[in-house]
Amino acid sequence: MDTCVAESQAAIGIFGGTFDPIHFGHLRLAEELAESIVLRQVRFIPAGQPPHRRRPQTSATHRLAMVRLATADNPRFDVDDREIRRATPSWTVDTLESLRAELGDQQPLYLLLGADAFLGLPGWHRWQHLFDLTHIAIAHRPGYPQTQWQDAMTMGLREQFEQRWIRQPDHTSAAGQIVTCPITALDISATSIRDALTHGRSPRYLLPEQVRDYIHQHHLYQPEPA
Ligand code: ATP
Repeated sequence: MDTCVAESQAAIGIFGGTFDPIHFGHLRLAEELAESIVLRQVRFIPAGQPPHRRRPQTSATHRLAMVRLATADNPRFDVDDREIRRATPSWTVDTLESLRAELGDQQPLYLLLGADAFLGLPGWHRWQHLFDLTHIAIAHRPGYPQTQWQDAMTMGLREQFEQRWIRQPDHTSAAGQIVTCPITALDISATSIRDALTHGRSPRYLLPEQVRDYIHQHHLYQPEPA
C-alpha cells in the first residue's frame, strides 16, 4: 500500500465529525491514518451544532456516548467533548485555536479528513486560517479515487493543495502541509445506517456491537410514527 511514512511519534490527529452514529468507516480512517502518518493519538471530536450541514438526528449526548463506546478499547484513541460543551456553532477553526492554546505552537497536529470533507473545505469558516493551525491528512474514501477528487477541487483549494502537498509527512513543522493517504474502502455512511434502522433493517457489521446495543437500548433512529 502507498503509505505516508513518518519520522516522529509525537504528532496528534484531530478527527471531527457528526458521528450520527460512529461506524467502522470512521474507525478505519482513524486507525489507518494513525498508522501511516504515525500519530501518537487520535482525538475524536464530535460536533455539537455542525454549521455546514443539517442538524444531527440524535442528541449530542448520545453521539458522544457512542463515540466513547466505539473508541474505548483503543489506547491511541481519545474523545474530546469541547465542541459539544460549546453553546455556539462548532467551527473547526475555533476548535483548533483552542487546541493550539493548550498544546503549544510546536505540537504537530493533523486534521484528518475524508476526501469528500476536504473538497468542502472552502465552505468552512476562515478555512485558509486552518493551515496556520494544523496539517491536513486526506484519506481517499470509497467513491473518491485520487484523480476524481483532485479534479473536483475549487481554484482556491487547488492553489492551497499545490503549494502545500508533500509526499511524506516530516513532522518537523507543526502545521501547514497536506498529505494524502489511501485507506481501505469501506462504503459505509451514517446516512445509510440511519436509513437501515428507520426502515427496520439490521446495521450489524457496519458499526461496533457496543454502538448497536446502545442504539437499541436508547431506541435511537426509530421509524417515524405513521
Ligand atoms: P453522514 O452519512 O451523516 O453524512 P458520515 O458517515 O459521512 O455521515 P461524518 O460524521 O459526516 O460521517 O464524517 C466525519 C468524517 O469521516 C469525514 O471526514 C468523512 O469524510 C469521514 N468518513 C465518513 N465515512 C467514511 C468512510 N466510510 N470511509 C472513510 N471516511 C469516512
